[in-house]
Amino acid sequence: AKEAGRATTVVYSERVRDRRAGRLAIETDLRRAAERGEFSLEYQPRLGTLDGTLRGMEALLRWDHPEMGRIPPSHFIPIAEESGLIVPIGHWVLETACKQARYWMQRGFPDLKVAINLSVRQFRDAGLLQKVVEALEASGLPPANLELEITESGLMSDLDRAVDLLQDLKALGITIAIDDFGTGYSSLSYLKRLPIDLLKIDRSFISGISDNADDRAICQAIVSMAASLTLETVAEGVETESQFECLQEIGCREVQGYYFARPLSVGDFSTYLTRHPAN
Ligand code: C2E
Ligand code: CA
Ligand code: CA
Ligand code: CA
Repeated sequence: AKEAGRATTVVYSERVRDRRAGRLAIETDLRRAAERGEFSLEYQPRLGTLDGTLRGMEALLRWDHPEMGRIPPSHFIPIAEESGLIVPIGHWVLETACKQARYWMQRGFPDLKVAINLSVRQFRDAGLLQKVVEALEASGLPPANLELEITESGLMSDLDRAVDLLQDLKALGITIAIDDFGTGYSSLSYLKRLPIDLLKIDRSFISGISDNADDRAICQAIVSMAASLTLETVAEGVETESQFECLQEIGCREVQGYYFARPLSVGDFSTYLTRHPAN
């Protein structure tokens, strides 16, 4: 038993070491990725539930590593968060998405709204407000065409500061969404205090909406609570027609998911635009 225990320990510590080494390698490569032009953005369409018109798109970060190929955000964003690299990377996302959205606006889609994910770390960064102002000025994107998505955990850690910062951001004319809604602290009283515009219902509730009574009840409750607080709702991760039908019945305002479109490269999104009427 003793021998076996030692063997397990060795294997375990090798794994930990490998994982640490892997992490470190990723972090090192992440530091250089921006200057080497390895980042890009994909854009996933967001549609009106009632009429199916294109309302906007969510910008999603992609990293094409020279040796490892495309690395999923779920893998590198946590490393970028912990190392603080997410702050400059997030700034790049903001600048790039604003410019791209402005470009599409000027080509006949003036009402498109681009949604950008903000990490908790970025939200805590003292320079955020200034960076948003700069990105809007540099791109010429009207503030009404920009939305920032923030998770509940990012807001709840310091509610007073969150209220202040969100008020300043909203004063610019941009809109604020709570991302992955329903998965966080879910203290509903804070919703009243926060100057937000929209709740994005987390995909985990959408996946069960058509065959799980609890998930359906949760979605229904979120939508009606949001309505009474004059907040909009968007469903993310809609994958099937029956999920979409449920969301229509419930009265969710906008939808996003593979059923309608995957995240698209700039070229593919341009093609998509030519085929889809915008509101
Ligand atoms: P998220 O903000 O919740 O983004 C939605 C994720 O769901 C995206 O994954 C999207 O590709 C995926 N998705 C969309 N529709 C469907 C669907 O119908 N079914 C399924 N199964 N998935 C769907 P992605 O692009 O891998 O991004 C994962 C997460 O990484 C994002 O989750 C977000 O938290 C983070 N992320 C992505 N880009 C950025 C960024 O620019 N900045 C920051 N801070 N985080 C980002
Ligand atoms: Ca998001
Ligand atoms: Ca989300
Ligand atoms: Ca998510």
